[in-house]
Amino acid sequence: MENNTSPLQKYQRQPKLYIDLPSQGVWYNENVVTKYKDLEVYSMTANDEISIKTPDALFSGMTVKTIIENCVPSIKDAWHINSIDLDYILAAIRLASYGDSITIEKKCTKCDNEDQYAIPVQPMLDYLQNTKPIFDIEVEGFKIHLRPLTYKEIVENNQSNMHVSRSLRQVLKSFADDDPKQGEHVEKMYDELNQRTKEVVCRVITMITTPDGDNEQNQQFIRDFILNGEPVFYNTIQERFINNNDLLTLPPTKVECSECGAESDIKTELDYSNFFSKT
Ligand SMILES: [Zn+2]
Repeated sequence: MENNTSPLQKYQRQPKLYIDLPSQGVWYNENVVTKYKDLEVYSMTANDEISIKTPDALFSGMTVKTIIENCVPSIKDAWHINSIDLDYILAAIRLASYGDSITIEKKCTKCDNEDQYAIPVQPMLDYLQNTKPIFDIEVEGFKIHLRPLTYKEIVENNQSNMHVSRSLRQVLKSFADDDPKQGEHVEKMYDELNQRTKEVVCRVITMITTPDGDNEQNQQFIRDFILNGEPVFYNTIQERFINNNDLLTLPPTKVECSECGAESDIKTELDYSNFFSKT
């Protein structure tokens, strides 16, 4: 009979830390996460580290999805992890894998001296745990309930934005004023961007409660109301959406040049390719 247990098994990796999801699990069901408190976080495996180095691994989101599910086993479907929790989870995985510091190189804009800064991860977790985006708003007596974007939606948005800005760059590079076709082309791309924004803004509305207290959850009716109604509704929702994104973006870290003492900001945007590599 084949022996299926290995003496190596008891040396398998142990959880490095435990986290509570900042969203408190509000938008999830048990197919997405099995709990929202005390989730075990393991360090990345050798496999994870190898797969993250594949070109385009980060672009499709598939690798990050797999890493999240590998390192935080209570997360069953990382595509549905929302923007409130996403960076928090990534920062926790980073902390579990490489400890509490990210090394970032930066050239001083004053004297060109290049410094290496160790940016601590724990303050990122603290910030993201305590930031409070707002998802219930009131406009002209209507209560509008919003939801955060999911990781899947974030990846899709990034891909289409990248696609549009790439083709826009190409057109602008060869732009000739006297070619009416190119003007049309640019207009079409801006149109596409606007269309995308409209879709996203409408999609994050989960319910509208009228001043009479009636609820509407039908996506089509909600869309018609928002796009064909007074602009104040659309504009307020879009503004809220942008404000929430700002609240979920890590504030910059102040650093000082070791040569000339000039202060500058390091954006701790979790540029994922840096984020997942050791140095
Ligand atoms: Zn300097």
